[in-house]
Amino acid sequence: MEEKNMHKDTVVIHEGYDGSAHQGSLAVPLYQTSTFAFETAVQGGDRFSGVEAGNIYSRLGNPTVRVLEERMTALENGKGALAFGSGMAAVSTILVHLTKAGDHILCSRGIYGCTFGLLGLMNQKYNITHDLVRMGTEEEIERAIKPETVCIYIETPINPTMELVDLHAVVSVAKRRGLRVVVDNTFSSPYLQNPLDIGADFVLHSATKYINGHGDVIAGLLVGTDKEEMESIRMSVQKDFGGIISPFDAWLLIRGLKTLSVRMERHTSNAEKLIGYLKAQKLVEKVYYPFDVDNPQFEIAKRQMRAGGGIISFTIKGGKEGAQLFMDSLSLIKIAVSLGDAETLIQHPSTMTHSVVPEEERLQMGITDSLLRLSVGLEHADDLIADLKSAFAIMEVAITEQD
Ligand SMILES: *Cc1c(COP(=O)(O)O)cnc(C)c1O
Repeated sequence: MEEKNMHKDTVVIHEGYDGSAHQGSLAVPLYQTSTFAFETAVQGGDRFSGVEAGNIYSRLGNPTVRVLEERMTALENGKGALAFGSGMAAVSTILVHLTKAGDHILCSRGIYGCTFGLLGLMNQKYNITHDLVRMGTEEEIERAIKPETVCIYIETPINPTMELVDLHAVVSVAKRRGLRVVVDNTFSSPYLQNPLDIGADFVLHSATKYINGHGDVIAGLLVGTDKEEMESIRMSVQKDFGGIISPFDAWLLIRGLKTLSVRMERHTSNAEKLIGYLKAQKLVEKVYYPFDVDNPQFEIAKRQMRAGGGIISFTIKGGKEGAQLFMDSLSLIKIAVSLGDAETLIQHPSTMTHSVVPEEERLQMGITDSLLRLSVGLEHADDLIADLKSAFAIMEVAITEQD
């Protein structure tokens, strides 16, 4: 079997596991163990010195976790992967690995709230600075680079406005200027976008979201293009900061990952149906979705993504009160942060995920009080539309009563 040529749909099910070495077990066994017994004292020494490959202690490596890491390496077309206890552990590990005191990190205009928090912490403690910049053109990126810049850290699509960063432009500037590129690929999942193929050096995921897909695990993954470098991160920052994943959570991710392709297809087809519906509503002002034909960045989307995925943002009439009334009028769709689950979730970024961002910055990023973010789940699209419809009807009544 030439694994290289296998489709991603097959990789998520088979990569990195041979049941014949595990009593024929079809499912990947859960090695729920903290440590591994050596056969002899000499073998223990050889494992530590690296003369002999093998398990030592689960913070340094675990057979269940390894299957997940190999699957992710193949899915993102990388050379090595590391699994973490949260998405933030993946983010902090790569940023600690790439920087030293006094360095500068160039970031996309929008980044995940806790990543923003981490950058503040790194600034306070180690004088590592950062800038959040709109990366509309190569010139805009070039202009923001400083002598002490070491890496470009981006998210695309940007949460929650679904604004895209042109990955080809970022990579071309980074190569010219000798900078490493890290992409937080959480929103797309490896099914929709593979930044390493475009030339990024690292891609990371909050595996809490689409990778797991079932809303019952917090985890993170980091994939790189250099096997030796990934192993050196494993045996330094990951081992010594210690943000590793538990074998059980890795096992749950392996189970969730098997259905990534079928889930992403349904998330996307549901989202497409909901977009058609939302755009026709007079209470909806604007819909934000990468593959929407009216999106001015549609061409960029097509160059770097295979499809639009399951996240839709939209603005609703009536400002904050309108947005809150709408959310409270839903019943099937749950009010919750997080995304990528089987359940459709809705949240209000200005009072929830982005409430810590100062108002002026928030508005500059397009996060107004009337913006809502929908993580479209796997339910039947007609049931979701029926729920949205009844919430719009309740809003109509409220508006009529006001007049
Ligand atoms: C959720 C999320 C994170 C953080 O991941 P955790 O698993 O919650 O630690 C990072 N980046 C993005 C884009 C996210 O959505």
